[in-house]
Amino acid sequence: MNRDETRREGFGTLAVHAGQRPDPTTGAIMTPVFQTSTYVQPELGRHLGYEYARTQNPTREALEGNVAALESGHFGVAFASGLSALDAVTKLLSAGEHVISGEGIYGGSFRLFDQVFRRLGIEFTFVDSGDLNTIEAALRAETRLIHIETPTNPMMRLTDLRKAAGIARRAEAWLSVDNTFASPFNQRPLELGADIVLHSTTKYINGHSDIVGGMLVVSDDGLHDRLRFLQNASGAIPGPWDCWLALRGTKTLHLRMREHNANGQRIAEWLEQQPKIERVHYPGLASHPEHELAREQMDGFTGMISLDLGSRDRARSLVEGVRVFSLAESLGGVESLIGHPASMTHASMPEELRQRIGITDGLVRLSCGIEDAEDLLEDLDQALRRV
Ligand SMILES: *Cc1c(COP(=O)(O)O)cnc(C)c1O
Repeated sequence: MNRDETRREGFGTLAVHAGQRPDPTTGAIMTPVFQTSTYVQPELGRHLGYEYARTQNPTREALEGNVAALESGHFGVAFASGLSALDAVTKLLSAGEHVISGEGIYGGSFRLFDQVFRRLGIEFTFVDSGDLNTIEAALRAETRLIHIETPTNPMMRLTDLRKAAGIARRAEAWLSVDNTFASPFNQRPLELGADIVLHSTTKYINGHSDIVGGMLVVSDDGLHDRLRFLQNASGAIPGPWDCWLALRGTKTLHLRMREHNANGQRIAEWLEQQPKIERVHYPGLASHPEHELAREQMDGFTGMISLDLGSRDRARSLVEGVRVFSLAESLGGVESLIGHPASMTHASMPEELRQRIGITDGLVRLSCGIEDAEDLLEDLDQALRRV
């Protein structure tokens, strides 16, 4: 049975089955790792749909179909990393054309725009995407792309996706949404009018901290053709093993996300009660400035929390004092991580911009994993007592 491209089945059923079918030659229920660079052609001018593995690979196709279904899209296009997926999106544009980007984006995304594509003649305006007026004010005749993250990394601020999609449509620009932080379990931007969804599959999609990967999901045929062309033309494809691992990851995405969401909510509520913590940023808290919007456009609020301890020294003693949380970059894995954005993930962002969006030296980011909440709370408690 081909389960692709239907939303009638629930998220969990799609997570387990979409994009996959038993192997036609053996009946193997799991999609094999097609570890091959080329495919034998039965006669000159005829092949079986597969010529060369940069262009086609069945393991990759299964992953693309799977994530596309989870995002309510028609097509997935897989990449070697989240940044190579963003690289392909940006290559939809030509020199002289213009991108409006949220300023609170992943540090590496900012670096790619600011230090690579700007040099190649693509123009960028960075705005506070949560304030839709600033997007509107930045529009130019040459604007082709609006790129946003919601929730943002690490400040967890939201953009109203329906309204942003309306602005993009009127401007005849594409809206691309980096949905890495939310995961498709919690938010599906294509359903709200976005044109392109981007994932670093490194994070929640794979969920086990053992690959680096990227994915784009679209529903428009023309846009799919252009991205598929770029995937093959630039060649930043993931290998079949990584696709297979990501596919193993997505089978439990719904189960993992329920735990991440529950742990995130419980830990954010606890952190908010701690006098040593100046501010907690989490969309599931009533105190979050976009809590109402979060309830409208998200189905859950993730395991990502940031908190402000007021100084670098205090932040340092927390990140070095924890024992269950591990001090590391990245997020979205089953294990809990803690990080210091100003010196780690966002070190490549100019100091002035970091200060403006709130990435202070006292800011700490948590990626709550799926361990028992009691153990995570106890760990934070013992480390906080020594701050
Ligand atoms: C990690 C991350 C990226 C970059 O993805 P890589 O797989 O590391 O290239 C992009 N956006 C967000 C929100 C991320 O967290």
